[in-house]
Amino acid sequence: MPWKIQKLSGLFQPLKVIPKNANLKPDNLLSNSQKLMVENGIVRLSGNGMFQILPLGVRALDKLTKIVDKLMAQVNAQKILLPTMTDAQLWIKSGRWHTAGAELYKLKDRHNKDYLLSPTHEEAIAGLIASISPVSHHKLPIRLYQISSKFRDEKKSRFGMLRGREFLMKDLYTFDQSLSAAENTYAEVCQTYDKIFDVIGVPYVKVAADNGIMGGSLSHEYHFLANIGEDLLMFCDTCNYGANKETFKEETCPSCKGRKMTERNGIEVGHTFVLGSRYSEPLEATFKGIDGKTTPLQMGSYGLGMTRILAAAIETLSPYDEIRWPISLAPYTVCIITPKEGSKEESASQLAYKLYSELNCINSLCGDIIVDDRGSMTIGKRVLEARKSGYPFVIVIGRKSVFADPLFEIINVSKSEQLDLNLKEVLEYFREVSSEGSGTKQKEALSS
Ligand SMILES: [Zn+2]
Repeated sequence: MPWKIQKLSGLFQPLKVIPKNANLKPDNLLSNSQKLMVENGIVRLSGNGMFQILPLGVRALDKLTKIVDKLMAQVNAQKILLPTMTDAQLWIKSGRWHTAGAELYKLKDRHNKDYLLSPTHEEAIAGLIASISPVSHHKLPIRLYQISSKFRDEKKSRFGMLRGREFLMKDLYTFDQSLSAAENTYAEVCQTYDKIFDVIGVPYVKVAADNGIMGGSLSHEYHFLANIGEDLLMFCDTCNYGANKETFKEETCPSCKGRKMTERNGIEVGHTFVLGSRYSEPLEATFKGIDGKTTPLQMGSYGLGMTRILAAAIETLSPYDEIRWPISLAPYTVCIITPKEGSKEESASQLAYKLYSELNCINSLCGDIIVDDRGSMTIGKRVLEARKSGYPFVIVIGRKSVFADPLFEIINVSKSEQLDLNLKEVLEYFREVSSEGSGTKQKEALSS
């Protein structure tokens, strides 16, 4: 067999039982996603607002990273990695050293020089471009992104990975020669963000937003709707126009002048900005135009909360007691449960591994299947655990596996569907699921 079989018995997944009735006071800091992720060994809390991301969490994160990398390539964005520490001088030049306030982690080195643990990298990237400025207009646009840890000294970190003090962000920065070119870039990147969220497959909304401390002229936010979301969003009942309530100062819809609005709570998972020359001017990130004149570049900044997307997806999709991942991010798509030791069907155990290798030949499932080989546990207990952990599909090698034409029990958790299928039918079922699981919209997005 060309694959190393991935077995649950060897998985580092420390389960944790949170006592019933714990932390259920109305002022609790615990979100359902945090409770589920900690209970099921996806992450652990290492301190206030700090998380250890465990193997299942990293697998989900890797899947999200793959989606993002693929779609960033479609807009010719290139991946880089900037240092976590940024020289205070850059932030002093932009003015944010003083205005960003208490949320900044400031530190000094042994020479008494000031740095910060970056919450975002507008200054750092503008500093990079300034170091090669003026850039020739032939080299524009420049589009660079990274996926890295960001830091924010939250007054009140809460709701687990939805608001941590250290978190993973994908941040893209763009540089154009005119504001209209920056706005074209903005439209192109926003379209790609739509595609990223289509592929993730969690329902989302895009709303007009405030530029806030970032500065600039144009801004949108992407949200997953959830009751614990900390942003209030307004939607027009007539034309569906949406905006963050912070920006919504009029009584009527700016798009259709309708008067009826609905308020919803959202978890912000992405934010896009046209920044103009807000950072390029003070930091002297410039280009040389056809006319030989040196001018500040027009910047855009585009964030995606990577760890927050994982938590927010679980928050949005899961019932109280079981994780539901979108199929696109599930750490493993399929969990195969072997027969109980000492049972009549134990003789059918090798069918689990035959099924494992056959399913691995389906492209979209390759490397995405785990075998729950803990035969000392009852099947019922393992099915329960598999559902809790959030595997979208569970296959049980149960009683009917000893038939002349063995039958496998397929559980499609999100559809509450249960089927008995023989090997050929199982393979057909998953070939179909994998083509609809990565939905038409998703496939178009990834192939275009
Ligand atoms: Zn309207």
